[in-house]
Amino acid sequence: MERLRITMPQQVEGIIGRLRQGGFEAYAVGGCVRDTLLGRVPGDWDITTSARPEEVKQLFKRTVDTGIQHGTVTVLADHVGYEVTTYRIDGEYEDGRHPKQVAFTSDLVEDLKRRDFTINAMAYSHETGIVDAFNGMGDLENKIIRCVGDPLERFGEDALRILRAVRFSAQLGFSIESRTYGAITRIAPNMARVSKERIQAELTKLLCSGHPEKICEVYKTGISAYISPAFHALPWEGFQVPSGLSAEKYARWAAFLRLAGPEAAVQVLRDLKMDNDTASRVRTLASWAGKEIPAEEAGVRRAMSGMLPMVWDVLLDLNGCGKETRRLTEEIRKRGDCLDLKHLAVSGQDLIEAGVKPGKEMGELLQQLLETVLECPQKNERETLLKEAGLQAYK
Ligand code: ATP
Ligand code: MG
Repeated sequence: MERLRITMPQQVEGIIGRLRQGGFEAYAVGGCVRDTLLGRVPGDWDITTSARPEEVKQLFKRTVDTGIQHGTVTVLADHVGYEVTTYRIDGEYEDGRHPKQVAFTSDLVEDLKRRDFTINAMAYSHETGIVDAFNGMGDLENKIIRCVGDPLERFGEDALRILRAVRFSAQLGFSIESRTYGAITRIAPNMARVSKERIQAELTKLLCSGHPEKICEVYKTGISAYISPAFHALPWEGFQVPSGLSAEKYARWAAFLRLAGPEAAVQVLRDLKMDNDTASRVRTLASWAGKEIPAEEAGVRRAMSGMLPMVWDVLLDLNGCGKETRRLTEEIRKRGDCLDLKHLAVSGQDLIEAGVKPGKEMGELLQQLLETVLECPQKNERETLLKEAGLQAYK
């Protein structure tokens, strides 16, 4: 067979070369090999080696003890960290998620065997070419996600792999091999043991991928019931992402959750320990989803005033707003119409100086003035607004 040559970053070549000079084996492994073969840009480059962590540390000037007990040392090269992990065999899994202990080995194939899917179980070095003990190349060519070894056993060891399978199928546009798929449906209850943060991270990657509609597999395979009641109760039928929708996390989650309404959307995100920024943007989008936005200036300004500009742009796509609303948006932005209290020509301080007592009423007054200005932007002028509020301008 013709030996394939993969282009690796110089730093990775350097690290592998140094380990080899030290008398050890070393390879790029996992996701980076998969992505490179697919012509995708790898997120990170992981290195696997026969060297023990202590030996790795001796060979490099700058290292970080990332997970010594699991065999991982981070090697810093030009300010970027590369994870170098000793060949290892995972011990028995105790909680459906983590191995009780890991053992180091000197056999690369043993290390590849512990990896989740055939396409993630290939190693590469310039000296050897691709090391592919489980026909990962064949599965890459046929666009198949297949477990290394017995799928029931592998998902039984670590239930996170279930979601990884669905996520990779969405990211790569691959289908899940039938025995692997069958095992997912059987092991689905183990999903309850996976931390909500990890579930959220996988679902986010899935939703931000080229095939967000594959999130429906999470329901079809029976996984959703073991994530949270609110999550399981979502309207799963016919979820579609409008074409051209931003791949930002909040945009994709909003597209997915909008039909459930703002309350349920927020409940799901809370269950999944989502960050507050994302949750609040999704709430805004879900509360506007499907609502008619009047295609006239003041109506558009009022709607825009409730959210960040980029969130508004996402709403235009989610609601399929037409040319007229988009044109009005452009105009409003070009003119720099005031859309929030920050840009109101009158501040709380101005009101205090004009004799208004600070407190709830003052807040309401400011809000009222903002509404006046949203209706009629020409009124965003100090004297005019104070007059509107029945106050004397204070010189
Ligand atoms: P990406 O970085 O795009 O999310 P990846 O495949 O690189 O995908 P990582 O989480 O970076 O995923 O893991 C690197 C490699 O470690 C994987 O390619 C796989 O070989 C192995 N791996 C990761 N998580 C697991 C797991 N839960 N079970 C078995 N092997 C795993
Ligand atoms: Mg990776």
